[in-house]
Amino acid sequence: MVHFVGAGPGDAELITVKGARLLAEAAVVVYTGSLVDRELVRRYAPDAQFYDSASMNLEETTAVLAEAVAEGKRLVRLHTGDPSIYGAIQEQMAELDRLGIGYEVVPGVTSAFAAAAALKQELTLPSVTQTVIITRIAGRTPVPEREKLSKVAGIGATMVIYLSVGMIDEVVQELLQGAYTGATPVAVVAKASWSDEQIIKGTLADIAGKVTAAGIGKQALIIVGDVLKARREGVPELSKLYDKNFSHGFRA
Ligand code: SAH
Repeated sequence: MVHFVGAGPGDAELITVKGARLLAEAAVVVYTGSLVDRELVRRYAPDAQFYDSASMNLEETTAVLAEAVAEGKRLVRLHTGDPSIYGAIQEQMAELDRLGIGYEVVPGVTSAFAAAAALKQELTLPSVTQTVIITRIAGRTPVPEREKLSKVAGIGATMVIYLSVGMIDEVVQELLQGAYTGATPVAVVAKASWSDEQIIKGTLADIAGKVTAAGIGKQALIIVGDVLKARREGVPELSKLYDKNFSHGFRA
C-alpha cells in the first residue's frame, strides 16, 4: 500500500497527525524535495530511505514505489501542501492501478490556507464574496480556454492564484480584464509558513512593481479580492453565525 501524504505548506508542524505517524512508520519516503522542507522529513522519518522526486520522472518514481511495495516496506509518497492541488498525483495513481498496487491519500494544508493564515485573513466574507477560486495562469502547463484567467476573474470572487507569480505582469493584465480594478487589493505571500516567509501587499495598480522589487519569482501565491479590504476598512457585514438576533441549530 502506498500512502500519498500532504506535507502541508512548509512549517514542519503543519503536517497532519496521521501524516506524521505514517512518515514515522515509513521505511521509504519519496518526496518532492523542491518544496517539502527537508527538516520535516528528517524530523518525522529520521531512519527512512529517501528519494527526492524533483529530479525523477513518473516512470522512476513509480519504480521506486513498486519496488518498496514488492519488498513489503512501508512507504510514503510525500507531496507539498495538499496532494490534490497541482500535485500530479492522478497520473501516479493511474500507474499504481495499472500495476495492481493499492494506495490511500492523506490530505494536507494547502498553501492557500497557510497564506490566508499569514495574512490573518478570512477569504469569505458576508456581502463581499462567498466564493474562493483556486486557479493559475497558463504557463508551460496550458489552462483550458474557458478558464482563462481574465474570464475567471469576471466573477469578482476571492482568487488564490498558484504557480503564477513569475508572470505577475500578465496576471495583473488578465485580472484587470475581469471584475477587478486598479484599486482592488492584492497580497502576495511567498514561502507561507516558512521561517523566511514574505508578505507583499498592494493593489492591482502597484503589486507587480513591488513583487519584482522584492525579487519574488517562485513559491508564492497571489491572493486578490475585496475581502482584503476588511483589515483596513473594517468588516462590512457581520456573519449570521454569531449574530445575537439569529438562532440556529446550536443556539436558541
Ligand atoms: N500541492 C501544493 C501546490 C503545489 S504547486 C499545495 O497544496 O500547496 C506549487 C505552487 O504552490 C507554487 O508555485 C506556489 O504557488 C504554491 N506554494 C506551495 N507552497 C507554498 C508556500 N509555502 N507559500 C506560498 N506558495 C506556495
